[in-house]
Amino acid sequence: MKAKDWNDWRWQLQERLTTLSEINEKISLSEAETQSFTKASESFSFSVTPYYLSLIDPTDADCAIRKQILPREGELIQLPNEEADPLREESYMPVKGVTHRYPDRAIWYVSHVCAVYCRFCTRKRKVSHPNETPNKNEWNLALDYFNQTKNVREVILSGGDPLSLANSQIDFLLEELKKIPHINHVRIHTRYPVTLPMRLEPELCKIMSKHFPIYVVTHFNHPKEVTEESRKAIENLIKLGNAIVLNQSVLLKGINDNAKTLETLHFALVKIGVKPYYLHQCDEVFGSSDFVVPISDGIKIMEELRGFSSGITLPTYVKDLTGGGGKVLLGPNYFLPSESGIHRFKNYKGEIFETKH
Ligand SMILES: *Cc1c(COP(=O)(O)O)cnc(C)c1O
Ligand code: SF4
Repeated sequence: MKAKDWNDWRWQLQERLTTLSEINEKISLSEAETQSFTKASESFSFSVTPYYLSLIDPTDADCAIRKQILPREGELIQLPNEEADPLREESYMPVKGVTHRYPDRAIWYVSHVCAVYCRFCTRKRKVSHPNETPNKNEWNLALDYFNQTKNVREVILSGGDPLSLANSQIDFLLEELKKIPHINHVRIHTRYPVTLPMRLEPELCKIMSKHFPIYVVTHFNHPKEVTEESRKAIENLIKLGNAIVLNQSVLLKGINDNAKTLETLHFALVKIGVKPYYLHQCDEVFGSSDFVVPISDGIKIMEELRGFSSGITLPTYVKDLTGGGGKVLLGPNYFLPSESGIHRFKNYKGEIFETKH
């Protein structure tokens, strides 16, 4: 039986499960899971909404939802190639909370909060840490920077989850960004259509519509995440928000690393109005090694999809280069396996980067 407030996002946020005993009441953890939980949740918070938790199959130890949320032993292992900030987001930071790497677009971290903490998160160095909350002064400094920096044509609101902010704050940020003449469009990166779909309520979507066009990039990784609630969230975004909705997934071992699962996901997304945009190679962030799928396997999976599935359903397989080189396309023409296990890539500026996976 679902609670009477199930469809209220405030209730979902209030009722988030954040501790071992809370989660143990709902899905029983194995001895090994209990131990990993205690150790790993110290370095990166645990949180899940009742909604997202309800997608877990309690009888399946390998459930794709379970694996995305439960703290694991592997999180405590740091391989030599892994870093806290593999994409050097903190080094390309002209003002606090803004990463400006590519000339024409910048990411702005406007919230440090997510409803659900994904164990493979690239930003676990800062996401969930209360001292990362941006203050009003930092917002103004970032807005000044965008005003003064004429080559910024796109601002990407990210976090944390930017939709953790209040509707009035989101309205304010979109309004201020839209006032800047050289800003062509605004993008929002949010996982709430997946982890807290009720958040995409009519009131918020109507705010987005006021600031048309808003490009929303969400983050579905598995077909089980495409539920009736998510479908409704996307419908609100498209019909009430006049938003253009894209998806990025992370290729994750044991979760979505086969052509059948991805094909099912991509078709389910296109059916609800979402265009698959990127499939990301897992970043070399500390504690991620047990999620990593070798690039050569990722390429094979994409080769199994290309031609057999509609091009509209196909994302671009990319890697964000460790060391801050930006994204490179992954495919048979971009990547050559090497004997030594070290891979070499040329980025869009012609710079060479070496990576382990
Ligand atoms: C990924 C990323 C973007 C967005 O890149 P697109 O290819 O336009 O989606 C922008 N800035 C940074 C720092 C990024 O890592
Ligand atoms: S929703 Fe995004 S930012 Fe938040 S924990 Fe998951 S991957 Fe990290």
